[in-house]
Amino acid sequence: MDDRFLKANLAQTTPFPFTIEVERAEGSWIYAKDGKRYLDMISGLAVSNFGHQHPIIMQSIREQMEKHLHVMVYGEFQQDIIAEAAKELVSLLPSPLDTVYFVNSGAEAIEAALKLAKRVTGKTEMISFRGSYHGSTHGAMSVSGNEGKKRAFRPLLPDVRFLKHNALEDLEQISTKTACVILETIQGDAGIRIPDLCFMQALRTKCSETGALLILDEIQAGMGRTGKAFAFEHYGIQPDILVLGKALGGGMPIGAIVSAREHMEQFTYAPMLGHITTFGGHPLACAGAYGALEALKKIDFEEVEDKGQRIEKAIAGHHKVVEIRRKGMFFAIELTDAETTQKVVHKALELGIIGFWFLSCPEAFRIAPPLNISTEEVDWAIERILEALNDH
Ligand code: PLP
Repeated sequence: MDDRFLKANLAQTTPFPFTIEVERAEGSWIYAKDGKRYLDMISGLAVSNFGHQHPIIMQSIREQMEKHLHVMVYGEFQQDIIAEAAKELVSLLPSPLDTVYFVNSGAEAIEAALKLAKRVTGKTEMISFRGSYHGSTHGAMSVSGNEGKKRAFRPLLPDVRFLKHNALEDLEQISTKTACVILETIQGDAGIRIPDLCFMQALRTKCSETGALLILDEIQAGMGRTGKAFAFEHYGIQPDILVLGKALGGGMPIGAIVSAREHMEQFTYAPMLGHITTFGGHPLACAGAYGALEALKKIDFEEVEDKGQRIEKAIAGHHKVVEIRRKGMFFAIELTDAETTQKVVHKALELGIIGFWFLSCPEAFRIAPPLNISTEEVDWAIERILEALNDH
């Protein structure tokens, strides 16, 4: 046990916590109690896409705090901030993605999406992809593709099958028995796996032909991370159910599913209260989401791409770098082996750069900085990442 968790009466999630004693955070920086500052090159795992303490987000939260916190379980009272956040979100999405259900987290949103697909289609088979990560609750884990993480928790949901990611031939397994196909538009924890345009378009067609609902999990890839507001925009397709979380809350805990009203109505009747959640759409979380969506609208995506390219170009030629997979500012930097990756991430931390690994791809480390990071900060990071790569 790590002494600091023991003393603080806190559960520990891994034997190797990445402990920084945080004092405060602002912009792209995290300041530790010992006076050291760190450039946050992972945005708290794709959460702080607009940096820490973004003024628009903070203002929105402050204003809501003065009005009210929780007043009633989700779905009963009219609360302006929930409606405003939904309106902002829908304004960025194509029709018929017009109805939002806010929940507490990414995993809860996945649970709700799977339940909704069963209700809409009246079918039970769920199809997912190897390498995927959709969350740590039982349902979300059932459709996640990392067997090593799942084994200890079986039995999980029945009627789930896994296809090879980005393999056109496997799409034949989607049939009229399939309730839904769930896919991270770009796989995150598998080490940023970017599917081909033809695969995504064939997947969309197959789902439409068979009546299976296409659920796109953009909990990590959404909210501007890939250089577009939502990653599905790169593929000229759209999901039947879009799942969001992480950066949606601007630092507050929230998740959401978005679908057509006719689908979402399945939660209202027979049985009513098909998905219930006390704190879903919490007013402060929705205030965070409202602010985050406002901040997203101000992001210059050309600049995001330029900064992404700047990092990629600077690091790609290094002899320890085997491959860089990137879309916008969503990076996996794959090195020669997992041990080297660990060493580089630790050395970078020593130099004031926060990087991190992937659950299902230990030979790569992730970079996902705030989208509004400055060019000077990018260069500061590049210099130190190269120094970390040169070490050992
Ligand atoms: N889906 C994806 C793609 C994720 O990356 C995550 C979290 O990392 C989740 C779902 C689960 O979200 P949460 O941790 O908020 O439950």
